[in-house]
Amino acid sequence: MLRTTYRGRFAPSPTGLLHAGSLATALASWLDAKSAGGIWLIRVEDLDTPRVQAYAIEGILQQLALMGMISDETILYQSQRISFYTEALHRLNAAKLLYECSCSRKKISEHVESTSQTPSAELVYPGFCRPQEPHVCPLSNHLSAVRVRIPAHTNILGQNLPQDVGDFVIRRNDGIFTYQLAVVVDDGYQGITHIVRGGDLESNTARQVWLQQQLGLPQPFYRHIPLVVNASLEKLSKQTQAPPIWPRNSIEVLQYLHAAGEHLGLGLEKPTSQLSIAQWQEQAVRAWSD
Ligand code: GLU
Repeated sequence: MLRTTYRGRFAPSPTGLLHAGSLATALASWLDAKSAGGIWLIRVEDLDTPRVQAYAIEGILQQLALMGMISDETILYQSQRISFYTEALHRLNAAKLLYECSCSRKKISEHVESTSQTPSAELVYPGFCRPQEPHVCPLSNHLSAVRVRIPAHTNILGQNLPQDVGDFVIRRNDGIFTYQLAVVVDDGYQGITHIVRGGDLESNTARQVWLQQQLGLPQPFYRHIPLVVNASLEKLSKQTQAPPIWPRNSIEVLQYLHAAGEHLGLGLEKPTSQLSIAQWQEQAVRAWSD
């Protein structure tokens, strides 16, 4: 096996247990790390407290352990890292890259609906609260969201950030730091070199790279894997009632792993009941590298 400085991670949001889709993502990140002789970490993205389900935190870790996926280092919990996000917020503020915004989502969506010709998944902020001149904000009003100020003509990974994404929120008006800021701070803190995650997150990459640039953090390699969909071609999720994976014995573990491996195109034989999880993993790592 190659010895590299590869550091990868799986970063679930514990809003529910893992289903076949999130298992495939976890497995892809694990296989990529292991086939590079690298380190694989679990990070629990439990910042969005109104949506976090306490049972899901332990539950996801148990599901991963049953599938033979164990973090190579201490698990990081984002809820314990608020001071790091606060520090990043202050650095961005000192660089005059932030402003406070009191617009409701309703106000923004009504404006966007009434003015845009083409429907877009992204609610691009029309800039109502954006001050004319960049400035350092007092950050005193806790009923305001905090947005980044994306300079005109910022183009990253082929994405025109001002046009496609707009000034996005990094701290919500309930004081919760958003995924965008936290993920960048933590990928930097944990020295993550490779990110393998679901294709639904691909459109977030350019804004995350922009934040990395502003915070002086290195840019990891990104790879996005196709989503697992149900019979109606909807992404598996809690909203589409995807059932949680919960193997009752080692044969079922192998069945779940095999199905996830099929989705990733590993092309392995159907596992027999004699196969151990470790043996399956060896085959899968080899198949992923080919
Ligand atoms: N926590 C995010 C999610 O569960 C994933 C973060 C990432 O991989 O960048 O969707």
